[in-house]
Amino acid sequence: MAVTNPHLSTATILGYPRIGRRRELKRAVESFWAGRTTADELEATARDLRQTTARRLVDLGLDAGNAAVPGSFSYYDQVLDAVALLGAVPDRFAGLTTDGGRLPLEAYFTVARGEGDNAPLEMTKWFDTNYHYLVPEIGPDTPIGFVDDRAVREFTELAHPADGGQAVVTRPAFVGPVTFLLLSKAADGAVPAAAALRGSQAHSSAAGDGFRPLDRLDDVVAAYADLLRALAAAGAPWVQLDEPALVTDLLDVPFDEVADAVRRAYAALATELSPAAAGDAPAQRPAILVTAPYGDLRSEAGDGLALLAGTDVEAIAIDLVRGAVPTGPVPGLETKTLVAGAIDGHNIWRADLDARLTTLEGLAATGTGLGAGTVAVGTSTSLLHVPHDVADEPRLDADLKSWLAFADQKVAEVVTLATALTDGRGAVADRLAESTAAVRSRAAAPGVVVPVVRERTAALTAADVERAPYAERAAAQQARLNLPPLPTTTIGSFPQTAEIRSTRAAWVRGELSDADYTAAMRAEIASTVALQEELGLDVLVHGEPERNDMVQYFAEQLDGFATTVNGWVQSYGSRCVRPPILWGDVSRPAPLTVEWTAYAASLTDKPVKGMLTGPVTILAWSFVRDDLPLGDTADQVALALRDEVTDLEAAGIGVVQVDEPALRELLPLRRSAHPGYLDWSVRSFRLSTAGAETATQVHTHLCYSEFGQVIGAIDGLDADVTSVEAARSRMEIVPELADAGYGRGIGPGVYDIHSPRVPSVQEVTDLVELAAKSIDPRLVWVNPDCGLKTRAYAETKESLAHLVTAAKAVRATL
Ligand code: GLN
Ligand code: ZN
Repeated sequence: MAVTNPHLSTATILGYPRIGRRRELKRAVESFWAGRTTADELEATARDLRQTTARRLVDLGLDAGNAAVPGSFSYYDQVLDAVALLGAVPDRFAGLTTDGGRLPLEAYFTVARGEGDNAPLEMTKWFDTNYHYLVPEIGPDTPIGFVDDRAVREFTELAHPADGGQAVVTRPAFVGPVTFLLLSKAADGAVPAAAALRGSQAHSSAAGDGFRPLDRLDDVVAAYADLLRALAAAGAPWVQLDEPALVTDLLDVPFDEVADAVRRAYAALATELSPAAAGDAPAQRPAILVTAPYGDLRSEAGDGLALLAGTDVEAIAIDLVRGAVPTGPVPGLETKTLVAGAIDGHNIWRADLDARLTTLEGLAATGTGLGAGTVAVGTSTSLLHVPHDVADEPRLDADLKSWLAFADQKVAEVVTLATALTDGRGAVADRLAESTAAVRSRAAAPGVVVPVVRERTAALTAADVERAPYAERAAAQQARLNLPPLPTTTIGSFPQTAEIRSTRAAWVRGELSDADYTAAMRAEIASTVALQEELGLDVLVHGEPERNDMVQYFAEQLDGFATTVNGWVQSYGSRCVRPPILWGDVSRPAPLTVEWTAYAASLTDKPVKGMLTGPVTILAWSFVRDDLPLGDTADQVALALRDEVTDLEAAGIGVVQVDEPALRELLPLRRSAHPGYLDWSVRSFRLSTAGAETATQVHTHLCYSEFGQVIGAIDGLDADVTSVEAARSRMEIVPELADAGYGRGIGPGVYDIHSPRVPSVQEVTDLVELAAKSIDPRLVWVNPDCGLKTRAYAETKESLAHLVTAAKAVRATL
């Protein structure tokens, strides 16, 4: 059979950062929110940004005429864009849509951010990344249609630019219909399909009865069919539909059902619509590229690659970084283009191009390879997860810079690989040589491998992660701390006021001396300690005013890390983070937190809890090295923290909390990988804490309540006290933990810090009683759900006062 695919460029990327090199979009969006600019002005800025981006990608080597440049812009979030495209707006926002069901720009942001009593869409993590998407709410009656042609207009605007400059024929990209519904939660109290990805098992048993978002597949597919027709009419040769739901088995929908949905969806889109013009009839749709980023299409659960190859789509993009290199032949693939995601879209290391090329040549080989019609080169995921440009980092060490590839460098890598694949290695010999030289220089550079660090991790034994039995610890700790039943505490941070932030900023800019900065932070700590004494809390904290971020603060002080100036990555909406780069062996040149904690302790007779960020969370929120197993890197970080615990103890600190809010976030997308992950993550946490003396009380904090898959791991952490989010789920976690045989301290959060609402004494009392009934009351601690840094002082004081009153009231009844 002759391959009739319209030619897809041999070099492409699955998506590009949308926020702008200098966070132009963030600023434009926020000034629109603040009412300083109009929707028209915001749209003009966005249009410029899209045009600059598309033209830059062409300058970097992507083909201007052949759908190589993805149309992956979003004002806020690509999942919200799909909601807007479909007009699938929850009832509470129905009044905001136009007659045609479209969300005007201002209303689009309202759905994302909420308004008054109308809560925004819930936000949750996008696969195993730190990007957060908005969770669509789909019910049996949610309107669904093709109501918004913004993407079509964006295509046309770049293909036929008004300024007469360089035209770019893009490939508009959308969340695919199956993934859209699998990530949606059921509206009207029906079953949320994506509960499991958010960590819950509680809802899964209910699957099968009641409405599920996937029940609306035909409606969504019909709307996508209209979208494809509109794109074809506008002349778009290709469209991209992202179906990462195919690489995970955490969605609690069996593979067979997902497969059935994929077959139905792509029969309707690819088979029933004609891709080619016939006679006078125009094409009914563009050629379709389905992408499957973030993991392996193949697993024990089923073969997603064979599934996609069996549809009539023209191209399939696979992730060769997270996924294994597939072997073939795969029936159906012979008529398709395989976009081989050889360049990591999710991390910042320069690729070993020679090695990648060998893999690509294997895939493309006729007879022995996969049997794909054509092999094109792509990124493993959208480049959304990496910063724009290494050249934009004036302060990074030159050697380190030469080992890095941010988005722009990755585009060049893709182009180099594609050129080598088509024209032979000789065509790009010098670029291949440069890549090899960079890989060699990195491997041999001082600091990458530090013998003393390696010797220390190599010498670790099982005894290094063991403490005395819990009963012995509990007795020693009680003798030392003499705490009342239902002890009260907080999670660590106190409000980060504008004043604190501007003081820190002035110090970073060099406008405030070290001495003045220290004095300002000490004053803040002193007032936080005084407040806690006044409130009558039992275990105090210093309040973390000196921390810009719970990971960056540690990364800035540890050897083996670097931080960037412009390395912003979108976290959600207009929020961006600058993940540190963990490039070398990690060690602690000097104590990290002791000075501040010891100062707080000097001001009070009450115990002060030292606050550290755990190894798993430090890794999860950094760009990690790719030349050492994650577990080994985690051990290095853990040892640095272990030394910090020892120093805190030497300074007289008797309670230490090691936060692991990201423990569940890093959970692999495939169940088969869970035991291996939980093994190293739990071990590294224990390594960081097990050096503590028997009489030192170790706390941990996990930022969520839906434990699902990690409940065993929580017990495995062996912390003396674990605080978790619980108020919103009415302490559900406490009986779950009790059932699982958990028998150490538990601090189920008694009020939700994500909102400024002050809980009443009665409300908190009820929750404390509930907790004390579900588990041995001697194990129960009373604390908020999470840190208070995003709150204001007014509500914080009142809420904590109610918390202490409630704890005392229940204490009196024990
Ligand atoms: N100790 C940190 C704080 O209170 C914990 C934050 C978190 O769990 N994300 O801010
Ligand atoms: Zn938290």
